[in-house]
Amino acid sequence: MANYKKTGTALIHGGIYGDKVTGAVNTPIYQTSTYEQHGLGENTGWEYSRTGNPTRAALEALIAELEGGTAGFAFGSGMAAITAVLTLFKTGDKVIISSNVYGGTFRVLDKVFKNFDLSYEIVDTSDLALLERSITPDVKAILVESPANPLLTITDLAAVAKIAKNNGILSIVDNTFMTPYLQRPIELGVDIVIHSATKYLGGHSDLVAGLVVVNDTVLAERLAFIQNATGGVLGPFDSFLLIRGIKTLGVRLDRHVENAEKAAAFLKNHKAVKKVYYPGLPDAQGYEINKRQAKNGGAMISFELDERHNIRRFFKALKLIALAESLGGVESLVCHPASMTHASIPKDVRDKVGITDGLIRLSIGIEDIEDLLADLEQAIAESEE
Ligand SMILES: *Cc1c(COP(=O)(O)O)cnc(C)c1O
Repeated sequence: MANYKKTGTALIHGGIYGDKVTGAVNTPIYQTSTYEQHGLGENTGWEYSRTGNPTRAALEALIAELEGGTAGFAFGSGMAAITAVLTLFKTGDKVIISSNVYGGTFRVLDKVFKNFDLSYEIVDTSDLALLERSITPDVKAILVESPANPLLTITDLAAVAKIAKNNGILSIVDNTFMTPYLQRPIELGVDIVIHSATKYLGGHSDLVAGLVVVNDTVLAERLAFIQNATGGVLGPFDSFLLIRGIKTLGVRLDRHVENAEKAAAFLKNHKAVKKVYYPGLPDAQGYEINKRQAKNGGAMISFELDERHNIRRFFKALKLIALAESLGGVESLVCHPASMTHASIPKDVRDKVGITDGLIRLSIGIEDIEDLLADLEQAIAESEE
């Protein structure tokens, strides 16, 4: 039994801690594809690294523990993780996704799984009555993000889990924006948690990885089979880097969120800013629900400048905050969802869900907040028409 109670400690001591043979405090990088067997049918428990690798296994045990699930699975990217989860379903099934999910999640359903007649429906999952009405007999799962990308829309995860359970279907949460340090969907009754570990879990913008955690042994067996059969596994070196990143998740996120709260207040009070989306602001959509199900509002902020400002000039004028896809790294990043992360969603669908051409998304890093605010201030001034 673990000799600690708190997530902040589990980040460092959780999963399979260190190496029993040498006492090394870190799990070694087992850079091997295969394992010698002592005789026919006599192996060490390790046979082939697609099926299992000790470094990956340490990471998988760690994320399972952090999310409070029965088993974890590591993949070569967040999209590989999402793809593996979607292969739990079959032709004729339908998956409900929340409006403004990650663009790649929409794309893989719309352009890949559609060819296999696994269909999807976009539903505003923050509207629970609408969600319930949308469940037809072919719907086999509800996949939500809360906060959802990029409008930071909050969905009541416990309510979604309950609706799914009542209908005998699966609830799936993409927990990338929150991480288990801020939000633990399985404790709210959710069946499957997905991560793009490329973001906060890795935390240093130096790897691409995906994770899945499930809450029961039957699902765990099915996913282990899918992971081995389809093969999109994470390599040992990236597994090591991810374990290393997760150790500092707590201290990083404390600073990310402290900075984000200050940046959100700064933008909210700025006369050039028309609208701020940040779940930590008391007047934000779903503020009370988020407060109940998550530790705080996280570190992602979206906003719109008023019409007197040119967003092209705003992006050009930023000196410290880098224009880039991705999020969750120690450095602050800015992006234009309509032409970048959500460009794969057709404009009419984007407009319908509120991803306007004027929307700016910020991933607040852990730099000194005064430098970040100064950069935003000068870029806003520079962008005035
Ligand atoms: C980035 C991201 C993904 C995709 O993950 P990759 O690691 O880029 O494949 C999925 N969901 C969310 C919310 C993301 O931000």
